[in-house]
Amino acid sequence: MKKILMIPGPIEYEHDVLSAMAKPTYAHTSKEFAEIFKDALEKTMMVFDAKDGLPYAISGSGTLAMEISTANFIKKDSKILVVSTGYFGDRFVDLFSRFSKNVEVYRPPLGYSADPKEIYEKVSKGEYDLVTVTHVDTSSGVKNNIKEIAKFFRDLDTILVVDGVCSIGGEEFSMQWGVDVAFTASQKALGVPPGLAVGVVGAKALKFMEKNPPLTFYSDLRIWQNVLRTYMQGKAAYFATPAVNLILALDVSLNMIVKEGIDNRVKRHQIIAESIRAALKEIGLKFIPKEGSYANTISVQYLPENVKQSDFLADAERFGAVFAGGLIPEIKEKYFRIGHMGSITSSEVLIAIGAVERALKKNGYKIDLGRGLSAAQEVLYNSGY
Ligand code: PMP
Repeated sequence: MKKILMIPGPIEYEHDVLSAMAKPTYAHTSKEFAEIFKDALEKTMMVFDAKDGLPYAISGSGTLAMEISTANFIKKDSKILVVSTGYFGDRFVDLFSRFSKNVEVYRPPLGYSADPKEIYEKVSKGEYDLVTVTHVDTSSGVKNNIKEIAKFFRDLDTILVVDGVCSIGGEEFSMQWGVDVAFTASQKALGVPPGLAVGVVGAKALKFMEKNPPLTFYSDLRIWQNVLRTYMQGKAAYFATPAVNLILALDVSLNMIVKEGIDNRVKRHQIIAESIRAALKEIGLKFIPKEGSYANTISVQYLPENVKQSDFLADAERFGAVFAGGLIPEIKEKYFRIGHMGSITSSEVLIAIGAVERALKKNGYKIDLGRGLSAAQEVLYNSGY
């Protein structure tokens, strides 16, 4: 039976994007492929709102993007600050444990976003070599205010790295706010099946990289830089075989994003998120993110006390929508996550909320069916979607 994938990535993909995956594969050294790769890299710059710097699209998942986007900009035992608002923030701590003994973590209480003032107080003396912030942590659904945080870094040597895996393509974002390095993965708001690490490296970070070889090989951006800059001229070069068909799919999806217009796309994500939150609130669920920390790309909420997560998720799937369980170890089984990014429409909101309502009722929760749907409908109707 047909069901929609509403986990926070992978998501439902556009038919034209999937068709690109099924095309006969070009030689990675061909003129045809070089032109497409060039276009995809240019559009990557547009989606990241980057004026200059090096875009990359390298085979691997978001975790590779985390490594590429940090390992190239630190030395052994560099002083690093990790701003963690969940499981994926904490993943940076594991990653850095391979490179440095000087890692500090700023971890706001669960559900709260990082206070930009606290970050300023920590970094303003210029003691840190690198700081990481997760824009939207997919485990908690908490969104950080990158615009406010990034402006402090413009006059510092400290490199600011933003994990935009659960945000870029669905949330307002600009490298020009003062972000030095940002990245995402193909499978989320960029709307491409899993398999590509996609990012942009700004001027400050590129300068650091030239003088400091990283302790990695496949992730060494100095090697990739030569290859990527050649492709950016519409010519082919080789270091490691690119995922040709994924790049074709990326190019199709980025063209769709640019055609929709980034602002329109962010607005659509915002309205969809508001309609889902209005519905879940009406149903009586409590969110993990506190007011003001909500994301446009994902909704994260506790299950009612006596509802067993595995039963709820299985029923929701039977009723037509696949949601995700929790990731934060201490409360993993107490909450669930709905991903709403990419080419998501109002129809999918209604399928998802319908499935939530019926699955909760099936599991003993007292609910008047249709209350959540009605709340979602109001938001969608009032915003013209
Ligand atoms: N960062 C964030 C914010 C994520 O959501 C994820 C994946 N859900 C990752 C990093 C890691 O990406 P991947 O699973 O593609 O390696």
